[in-house]
Amino acid sequence: MKQLKMYINGQWVDAGTNETREIINPYNQEVIAHAAEGNEQDAKKAIQAARETFDEGSWATTPANERGEIVYEIGRLIRRDKAELAELETLDTGKTLTESEADMDDIANVFLYFAGLADKEEGEIIASPIPDSQSKVVREPVGVCGQITPWNYPLLQAAWKLAPALAAGNTLILKPSEITPLTSVKVFELMEEAGVPKGVANLVLGPGHNVGAELSESHQVDLISFTGGIETGRRVMHGASLNIKKLALELGGKNPNIVFADADFETAVDQAMNAVFFHGGQICSAGARLIVEESIHDEFVAELVKRAERMKLGSGFAEETMCGPLISKDHREKVEGYVEIGKQEGAKLVTGGERPANPELQDGFFYLPTIFTECRSEMRIVQEEVFGPVLTVETFKTADEAAAIANDSVYGLSGGVFTTDIAKAEYVSAKLRMGTVWINDFHPYFAQAPWGGYKQSGIGRELGRQGLEEYTETKHIYRNTNPEPIGWFK
Ligand code: NAD
Repeated sequence: MKQLKMYINGQWVDAGTNETREIINPYNQEVIAHAAEGNEQDAKKAIQAARETFDEGSWATTPANERGEIVYEIGRLIRRDKAELAELETLDTGKTLTESEADMDDIANVFLYFAGLADKEEGEIIASPIPDSQSKVVREPVGVCGQITPWNYPLLQAAWKLAPALAAGNTLILKPSEITPLTSVKVFELMEEAGVPKGVANLVLGPGHNVGAELSESHQVDLISFTGGIETGRRVMHGASLNIKKLALELGGKNPNIVFADADFETAVDQAMNAVFFHGGQICSAGARLIVEESIHDEFVAELVKRAERMKLGSGFAEETMCGPLISKDHREKVEGYVEIGKQEGAKLVTGGERPANPELQDGFFYLPTIFTECRSEMRIVQEEVFGPVLTVETFKTADEAAAIANDSVYGLSGGVFTTDIAKAEYVSAKLRMGTVWINDFHPYFAQAPWGGYKQSGIGRELGRQGLEEYTETKHIYRNTNPEPIGWFK
């Protein structure tokens, strides 16, 4: 049984109250760890450590290439311990081991990418319009960063925040989701081993309403980076307004997947399955809103139903498993609530819509892959993020109509377009109001490309060069090279 501690100012510590929380395996509800249950007092201690380390320590002024070397070492250690990390992630989230292993590769790559970028942030001399002057623009770390992550990709989401914050010279406090802390704790052990100085990176475990709120609201924190649901994002934004801290929000999505009749049928069906059912739909970029050309609707849906019904649910550790359980009892109830709403709204349930009958799956939070047809844009089941294995299907006749339906959403995170007509693909992609558009694919994201949302899917970008810039401030330094009185006030 693992006992998970917090990491504050270079020390592994219990919660000030000594309280702990049981961490549950969603496959069988077994307790897999006891985690320190921090509160706002623990968060305050971590914030103070990060503040003092930033203001008085040498991390911000350490040469960027040296910071890069440490960030590189973290990536190397993640590769070394990939098998252990992947097992922890599968235990904690229920996702398949293959998926967790792929996550660990991505996570190591994120550290290696930002390690390489650390010393590529260049200042510039700008052409000053004033004679006898020199003007330069430099980038500096923002300061103390609060980082709050969700449960669906526990370590991946943390990596997108930790790596650029460290590379840019900030100090930080990470608060992972209280229900999935295992890999975050392990990566802090690796960061310690890699030589991240004491006080630079701090870990506070515990719930959002106190630890998360303290990070959002504290006047000692300069930047808050949050990934999670839209309503929590609103609260974080409100908290951040108290001292106008810098804000990065990665929120939800209701991502459209547009399939034209001329798409390669086999690829489009296969990818539509992957788009919505990967990790049980518990992905911010899940392609949960299929918008298919009317002429192929029946054939396309029939094939999806066939494949959904033969999807193998089970333990993430079993080789034949295609999809694990949902994350928790509460989350499954939320998904079930949405399925009821869909039925009441008049959407037609063509498969799923219930828990599996298989006796082996009764201890886990499983839910069958579910498909609704006859959906209309105004339905809640179409507009709101279910975050589960639930697909809604709408139809279109023209490219303009497809784009208009896809854009009819408060979200703007990502979307897919399937067609063999590249001109049409480009035409529709240009119309979509989304941070990422995939053509003839769904879900690829990697360290080199920015990730983030239009509209209410968020503010700012993670990954890519912009992912590093979010963790820097821009300073203009102007020097009068021939100082003399100007005589304005005689
Ligand atoms: P959530 O909003 O419930 O929780 C996210 C984090 O916020 C957790 O660590 C939680 O403890 C914390 N939190 C809760 N209340 C808080 C408060 N008042 N102040 C500060 N922090 C608080 O989200 P979740 O259920 O863990 O994750 C699912 C959501 O995350 C989905 O909406 C999904 O779309 C989103 N997500 C977005 C991205 C992206 O890149 N855009 C990636 C992954 C997940």
